[in-house]
Amino acid sequence: MPSSPAPTSKKTAPSAAQQVMHKLGLVRDIDLVLHLPLRYEDETKITLLRNARDGDTVQIEATVTQCEVQLRPRRMLKVTVEDETGNCVLTFFSFYPSQQKTMAVGTVLRIRGEIKGGFWGRQMLHPAFKVAGGELPQALTPVYPTAAGLPQPYLRRAIASALQRVQLPETLPPDTPPPVMSYWGDNGLQPMMGLRESLSFLHHPTPDVALVTLEDHSHPAWQRLKAEELLAQQLSQYRSKQERAALKAPRLTVPAPQAGTQTLVEQFLQQLPFGLTGAQQRVCREIAEDMARASPMHRLLQGDVGSGKTVVAAMSAMVCIASGWQCALMAPTEILAEQHFGKLVGWLEPILAPLGKKVAWLSGAQKKKERTAMLELVASGEAALVVGTHAVIQEQVQFHSLALAVIDEQHRFGVAQRLALRQKLAHKGLEPHLLMMSATPIPRTLAMSYYADLDVSVIDELPPGRTPIVTKVISDSRKDEVIARIGAQVAAGRQVYWVCPLIEESETLDLSNATATHADLSEALPGVTVGLLHSRMPTADKKAVMELFTAGIMGVLVSTTVIEVGVDVPNASLMVIEHAERFGLSQLHQLRGRVGRGAAASACVLLYAVNDNGRLSDTGKERLRAMAETNDGFEIARRDLEIRGPGEFLGARQSGDAMLRFADLDKDIALLEWARELAPVMLAQHPHLAATHIQRWLGAKSEFLKA
Ligand code: ADP
Ligand code: MG
Repeated sequence: MPSSPAPTSKKTAPSAAQQVMHKLGLVRDIDLVLHLPLRYEDETKITLLRNARDGDTVQIEATVTQCEVQLRPRRMLKVTVEDETGNCVLTFFSFYPSQQKTMAVGTVLRIRGEIKGGFWGRQMLHPAFKVAGGELPQALTPVYPTAAGLPQPYLRRAIASALQRVQLPETLPPDTPPPVMSYWGDNGLQPMMGLRESLSFLHHPTPDVALVTLEDHSHPAWQRLKAEELLAQQLSQYRSKQERAALKAPRLTVPAPQAGTQTLVEQFLQQLPFGLTGAQQRVCREIAEDMARASPMHRLLQGDVGSGKTVVAAMSAMVCIASGWQCALMAPTEILAEQHFGKLVGWLEPILAPLGKKVAWLSGAQKKKERTAMLELVASGEAALVVGTHAVIQEQVQFHSLALAVIDEQHRFGVAQRLALRQKLAHKGLEPHLLMMSATPIPRTLAMSYYADLDVSVIDELPPGRTPIVTKVISDSRKDEVIARIGAQVAAGRQVYWVCPLIEESETLDLSNATATHADLSEALPGVTVGLLHSRMPTADKKAVMELFTAGIMGVLVSTTVIEVGVDVPNASLMVIEHAERFGLSQLHQLRGRVGRGAAASACVLLYAVNDNGRLSDTGKERLRAMAETNDGFEIARRDLEIRGPGEFLGARQSGDAMLRFADLDKDIALLEWARELAPVMLAQHPHLAATHIQRWLGAKSEFLKA
């Protein structure tokens, strides 16, 4: 929007504009000065009309020689102006009488707009103008993002006066080394610009600046701002980590066994049907060391789909139980929780039974009577382990002596739920240890920034004997071939998943799709048991279907994305995903991870459909290509981050307030590393500066980052 003494600035009452500012979050002076221009206009120069080319946006100073309203072909104001080198016709289709007056013949105007036409017949359509006079500005004119009801000139004035008023005490300790930026000179070192200096510059840059450095945010003023923001994020996370370290948690140490016997943990390991991989052993050690401390663990366990996180959870539970405490495990869906329950009962009960201890099951779907019985087991401590869905954190659940909470697929849970969990589990002034598991690998830069307050363990090795999954991208016009392949797999004793897409607009449509596919496949595959699973089914039906599939009786399972997380049926070796172009990349990877869990060679077929124009969208294409090219969850995550940005990964932390506004994790790794090194030093040596810094950037928002 060009700058002009817009009539709207007079008509809009300040209070209305202020309301809009409030809505945009522009409340404190600091909010205003952090509201940065979208772009700039150069009003520092006057161009002679002779030198203005077709298409140039220019500022001219010229005298009105003619000003008249025409009525044909439609009502418009035509104003002719000239300077000593040429003339130009200004056209306005809408105008106020006051504007017409301003442009009276003989007036010298300062006009800004885009020149159309050439030597004989220069024109400007709706240029910005004002009566000439006053000095030319020294700096570029900022153009801010704004909204209806908040005129640009009003916002400009508000920001300029906030910039005058705002307190910006330097918070970087005097001896802070600057970040190493490869593109700043030979050794990459350059002293940091001051914050006030940076902000003044970004709002009012001098006309000699290389605009590209403002656009790509590589200018030192931008660097300073991004460094500040990343530092605030790191500081607040380190601080919440410190605060947590000051809390008390039960020390979980497994008592030494009597001579000639084994600890419970050793017994557990002995009766497992497999040995732990090196990576599993390592993360188990990391977790055990954390839990042996008197402050609460907050650890994120990352491992690609199928890397074997469940047994690590079981092992951690065993350490907790052997130390004489209770453990809870919470999963986001009934199916997944149910499966964990089955597995954990199988692994743990042989060891718990002789001690008179049990594994309890809690779910929203269970009958009142069963639930009451379970609640009693939990409250009395007879249940050493409690497995379930969100039901685990409900009001009525009273734990006897809970010391460890395991959250599977943690990104599926919200901040509020995690807070509720911690509060609920607090026991006699003690906090529980928290183990969060995630199959969506978090790219390194995200882990370093948003998850800086968590300790992270990574299972970077798959259990032995897995054959890599072969992924094929096939047009859905070849569905028949795929169905033939399903027949062959089932005949060979294998099982198959067929996933139907989620249709965003309509769950009903979604369902009818799955139902139709189920009917088609049943017809095309005579003699094969084809099952159907979708989210609207009653829990008991879901359970029955899953049992048939798990037992190997059902050859093909048609489902919507309800099987996305966690489901584990090692005999399944073929995954078909219909309309794969509609799924997100991590989601596809999760789905693919349902096969390749046993020794048999597994495949994933991504069926895609072109749209009405016979095309596949670019992002759709990119995702399918990524899937075909790699099986590595971290690589997938990296590409997903490229395609979609960080929002999706943050899951529980996905609070708009906590998001970075200026820094770009892809480009600003050097700044992130700088902030990461500085934050702990600053907290230890300059706590007041650290507090001021956090307050400036996050204000009340920093609470969000702690959950
Ligand atoms: P995820 O990490 O995706 O949750 P799971 O815990 O479901 O993976 O494990 C995937 C499969 O691998 C399961 O069938 C599990 O029993 C098996 N498994 C886990 N660890 C090992 C191991 N060390 N050796 C052999 N199989 C294992
Ligand atoms: Mg899992």
